[in-house]
Amino acid sequence: MAIEFEFTADQEAFRSAVRTFATKEIAPVVVEMDEKEEFPRATVQRMKEEGYFGVPIPEEYGGLGLGKVGYCIFLEELGKVDASHSAIVAAHTSLGASPILYYGTEEQKQRWLAPAAKGEKILAFSLTEPGSGSDSGALRTLAEKDGNDWVLTGNKIYVTNGREADTTILLAANDLKLGANGGVTAFLVDAGLPGYTVGRCEKKMGIHGTSTAELILDHVRLGPERVLGEVGKGFHVAMTALDVGRVSLGAASLGGMQAACNEALEFAKNRTQFGLPISEYEVIQFKLADMAMKIHALRLMVYHAAQHQDKMGTDPKAWSRLERYGKTREAAIVKCLGSEWASDVIDESLQIHGGIGYIRGTAIERAYRDARISEIFEGTNEIQRVVISRDVLGRGL
Ligand SMILES: Cc1cc2nc3c(=O)[nH]c(=O)nc-3n(C[C@H](O)[C@H](O)[C@H](O)COP(=O)(O)OP(=O)(O)OC[C@H]3O[C@@H](n4cnc5c(N)ncnc54)[C@H](O)[C@@H]3O)c2cc1C
Repeated sequence: MAIEFEFTADQEAFRSAVRTFATKEIAPVVVEMDEKEEFPRATVQRMKEEGYFGVPIPEEYGGLGLGKVGYCIFLEELGKVDASHSAIVAAHTSLGASPILYYGTEEQKQRWLAPAAKGEKILAFSLTEPGSGSDSGALRTLAEKDGNDWVLTGNKIYVTNGREADTTILLAANDLKLGANGGVTAFLVDAGLPGYTVGRCEKKMGIHGTSTAELILDHVRLGPERVLGEVGKGFHVAMTALDVGRVSLGAASLGGMQAACNEALEFAKNRTQFGLPISEYEVIQFKLADMAMKIHALRLMVYHAAQHQDKMGTDPKAWSRLERYGKTREAAIVKCLGSEWASDVIDESLQIHGGIGYIRGTAIERAYRDARISEIFEGTNEIQRVVISRDVLGRGL
């Protein structure tokens, strides 16, 4: 495929608008949000009003229609300012809205995607269970057929936006014996249905503005219109969502890395030790060079992957097997390297700050705690390496 990395004038204008929004409206609230560990309701409301809950969703369904490239621009800029806000929007958009766009019927798109893209409803995605994390095919939440209906029973954990979500894309076993290959189905589950309870919300190391909730399903009855994609093919739905999510996670990491590098630059130029700004010492200069290299490489990778996904379109039936494998490998590479480089860059920036970098309330201390989760969620980096190595062994480089 052609490699083009020019942003259009419209994309640059969008970047500039998001940057202004994030700096003026989000930056002032993040210290208090982090301290109080509260979901940032007011700024989430403002993001909805700006259309930011539907950036890549086509305009016909109420989104901004800016595709994956526009969406990555948005998350890169948001990621410069706060990881909680980017995680909230990404769980909603990448993991909640995209699977409806890719696999939903027209009726499902009108009923669940359009209000979500306009920000009238919040979405979440729920795959993980107490006994199945990386081994997601071993999930035990049961979807039993009863006439035309499905009855769901089980416990899901670690659901980002789980406390606030109006609807969750939830994976359950329609056949325990078949596992991931034919035995798992994706359902659209609305909060408030009889038998649906939000359980415990976790206390976390970072991304304090997000909720990470348990969902308890006690014989939740769903009509057939709530099956997303085909019965037994829930893993196609989940993996397509995760391919989008892993690239968008790379974009948010890219933003976090730039913010950390800028903090380090500013600090190094202004902190004097042994009679010189510490930026005069080669050890510090080389740390900055290493940061710049990682930022440069990740930027190319993120936008290449985003452009690639835009070109593939949103109809999974139109993709060849090789195209699907290529997309999944690329998304895993972006997620894995992006999250590890973000951790490296933020760690080195903290080191450049010396003691102040370790003090609660500084931007770099918060970034350090916030960044760590990116190596774990949306599939741990060990699992990304499993995905990449399997594909390399199967198809070669
Ligand atoms: C803050 C937060 C938000 C989350 N949000 C969501 C969400 O919105 N929706 C959702 O469904 N889930 C969510 N998760 C769950 C997350 O995706 C899982 O925690 C993650 O996939 C790992 O699963 P696990 O915690 O069970 O770890 P485990 O699978 O038990 O893994 C433990 C360790 O073993 C390693 N490991 C496991 N299998 C292998 C293997 N085959 N080869 C090599 N190493 C292996 C892992 O990499 C890891 O290091 C969230 C988690 C957190 C903490």
